[in-house]
Amino acid sequence: MKRHPEDKKNLSRRDFVKTTATGVSAAALTGIGAKQADAQARPPHWDKEADVVVVGAGASGLPAAIEAAEHGASVILIDANFDVGGHALVSGGNIALGGGTSRQKKYGIEDSPDIVFRDLTDWSVVEPNGFPDYRYNDKEIIRAFADNSAPTYEWLVAHGVIFVEKAPDTLGGNSVGNSAPRENHSAPMAWPQMQTGRPVDPPAAATTSSGVGLIRPLEAAARKAGVQILLQHRMSSLIRRQPTSGRILGIEATNQGKTLNISARKGVVLCTGGSSGNVNFRRIFDTRLTEEYNGVAGEPYSFQDASGEIAAMSIGASLWGAYNQVGEFGDRLTKAGRIGCQYGYRNVEWQPGSPIFHLARARGLTVHDYQNVILVNQAGLRFYDETQGQYTANNYNSLHPYTQGSYLNAANIKYQPANFLDAALAGTGEAVNGGGPIWAIFDSGAVAREQWTVTPPWVDIAEGYFLSANSIAELAGAIVNKFQRKPISAAVLQDTVTKYNSYVDAGNDPDFGKPSPKYKIVMPPFYAAWAMPVIHDTRAGLRINAKCQVVDLSGNAIPGLYCGGETAGGFSLHGLARCTVQGRIAGKSAATETLENSGSNRDHC
Ligand SMILES: Cc1cc2nc3c(=O)[nH]c(=O)nc-3n(C[C@H](O)[C@H](O)[C@H](O)COP(=O)(O)OP(=O)(O)OC[C@H]3O[C@@H](n4cnc5c(N)ncnc54)[C@H](O)[C@@H]3O)c2cc1C
Repeated sequence: MKRHPEDKKNLSRRDFVKTTATGVSAAALTGIGAKQADAQARPPHWDKEADVVVVGAGASGLPAAIEAAEHGASVILIDANFDVGGHALVSGGNIALGGGTSRQKKYGIEDSPDIVFRDLTDWSVVEPNGFPDYRYNDKEIIRAFADNSAPTYEWLVAHGVIFVEKAPDTLGGNSVGNSAPRENHSAPMAWPQMQTGRPVDPPAAATTSSGVGLIRPLEAAARKAGVQILLQHRMSSLIRRQPTSGRILGIEATNQGKTLNISARKGVVLCTGGSSGNVNFRRIFDTRLTEEYNGVAGEPYSFQDASGEIAAMSIGASLWGAYNQVGEFGDRLTKAGRIGCQYGYRNVEWQPGSPIFHLARARGLTVHDYQNVILVNQAGLRFYDETQGQYTANNYNSLHPYTQGSYLNAANIKYQPANFLDAALAGTGEAVNGGGPIWAIFDSGAVAREQWTVTPPWVDIAEGYFLSANSIAELAGAIVNKFQRKPISAAVLQDTVTKYNSYVDAGNDPDFGKPSPKYKIVMPPFYAAWAMPVIHDTRAGLRINAKCQVVDLSGNAIPGLYCGGETAGGFSLHGLARCTVQGRIAGKSAATETLENSGSNRDHC
């Protein structure tokens, strides 16, 4: 397996930035013109051909490619990145597959496809902020998941994934159903982690969970099945017989500045992984998520740029299940776990040994106790109790007692209307979208208590994500960052800190109810660290049916186009389970489905 981790062109980061930040995505969001699409339908030649072309080699793409190959298809699997895995490679590897797996049976856990189905369509499960986890799931899609959940667990084991030897539990799961523990944990074994560049320490190799333990065995299985994997190949568009009708013929892709057309005799499977990194696309669902929410989990290794959704919408595909993206539950947005760096997702620490550390730039400071900092918005004002948490999500036993489908489940929830994240997103009352930067402000006393090292590689000083000064007034002036629209007023920041210090004296925070504020901010030097909420999952995307065929705006399946994982909509379950299951369904469908108007792609060469 040849890899080129230091080759900047490989990651195609600039391509992604260009796509998401310039007119490319704007054009795509308004639809590619008919003339262009018509031209696409008749490429001058095919550079490569296969029965099935899978786009994206992550949690859904690898299973799709393996299934297609094992059902007799020749398969090309492309990925824009320099390596396979996508978000799944850097994920926690916690996989919520239930419905009666051999492991559930081994540990005496009762579960079945019907229990999974009823769990994941249960209208009555509601989070404390009022948002229902499952109410807007598409039942056709959930039925397909429920029926394929346990078989996918066995399939992963058969394809080399080693799960930690213990009973399924709840670790890492959200919106995965209330009736049974379903989380399995893929063991990292000896595979190097992208986050660190090295394997986990041997005692942890078979007892901890990591996405590398899912992806590397699947990569090996794909190669063994004869899948041709083309890295640094980025799909730029789909090629359809007519702009918005007829079957999908293949894709156009770019590789190191060159464009090539790849014919898919049976079908194209889109597994490009969602839209969390595309500012304009994600704002279709939540207008608040402007550019400064730039620490998307999984970046800077893998970017969810909505390219699958945009390409499919351009040839007539429909979006689906938008509520699931708007809904406030689970990991959609997380409170910053690390501060002073751009990529502050609590479960990923980029370390200097990582092949992409030059992109991440800093490890970040883990906040163990939010009593040690105050958080201020772009105006220098506190906005909420810093110790508050984030959105919650349903899991086994989080409702107790629980009766599937009973109105009492909703009635028994204790309503808690607001939380930290909504306050962070609220902004300062101006007619400008987005909450603006959020800064953690603290002093050297906090640094000592948290045992932080406030120099690189821990913090990102060069790009303006970590600043320091000898007085609070100077610190206000030092806060210069491209997302900080106006300078913070020295008087306002000083007033915020003075007021907070008086609350510590009083043992009471009358503004936001922080429980017994503990530490004054008095000991120079003083610090400001980037502390933005992190965007995580995509839970809405293309409309698919039970066979993972992509469906158009008229409700008809688009011949030869399939999709699974975060690119697909209609299903709000977090993460890897839905992606692996749908990848398998899509790959098998693409290899075995008979297309009504299929035929050789040669007539278009
Ligand atoms: C830090 C982190 C931790 C997580 N932990 C867990 C966990 O413990 N449990 C869980 O269930 N879920 C977890 N998740 C979520 C889970 O990883 C994702 O839901 C899952 O990986 C999505 O699978 P996917 O196939 O849709 O996309 P991905 O796995 O992201 O794969 C998409 C692939 O498509 C490629 N691609 C995109 N556009 C193109 C294009 N135009 N052309 C070619 N290739 C393209 C990308 O490079 C990428 O390799 C985690 C996510 C993150 C970021």
